[in-house]
Amino acid sequence: MRQQPSPPIGVHMTSGPEETEALAALLGAALEPGDVVLIAGELGAGKTTFVRGACRALGVTGRVTSPTFAIGQRYDGRVPVSHLDLYRLGDLAAEDPGLLADYLRPERVAFVEWPELADGFVGPVAARVRIAHRGGDARELAIEPAAADVR
Ligand code: ADP
Ligand code: MG
Repeated sequence: MRQQPSPPIGVHMTSGPEETEALAALLGAALEPGDVVLIAGELGAGKTTFVRGACRALGVTGRVTSPTFAIGQRYDGRVPVSHLDLYRLGDLAAEDPGLLADYLRPERVAFVEWPELADGFVGPVAARVRIAHRGGDARELAIEPAAADVR
């Protein structure tokens, strides 16, 4: 992850999906090939909304939706992007343990929803995002860099 433009590290409140997308775009603009971003939060928190905003900043113009019947999808932006949703990893990992490797590659930026289900599968990460409901359309987003980046 680049330091310029500076990523939105810290805790943020948003009051609607557009604000979450705009915040995510700031993070997206700082990402580089090989960066993996973990996005945690319960169903409906806004993980996919966040990925959509970050993808726009990476030059992805098509639909960005949570993969429902697959573990992930790929988008072409200025850099290739992977979007993983590990909600169903339990079933899928048994089928093919190498499944994630195709998505987590040095030339791609990767976003991972439900990362807690992949402990031990995902390598080093560039940033972690946690999204929480704060009533109605309010959300709290905590964005932290990888431990190695903390100074
Ligand atoms: P997840 O991937 O975490 O299950 P989604 O991004 O698919 O969540 O859905 C979030 C839903 O919440 C969308 O319908 C979105 O429009 C709505 N929403 C309302 N307020 C916000 C907000 N502040 N940030 C993100 N999404 C919001
Ligand atoms: Mg989702």
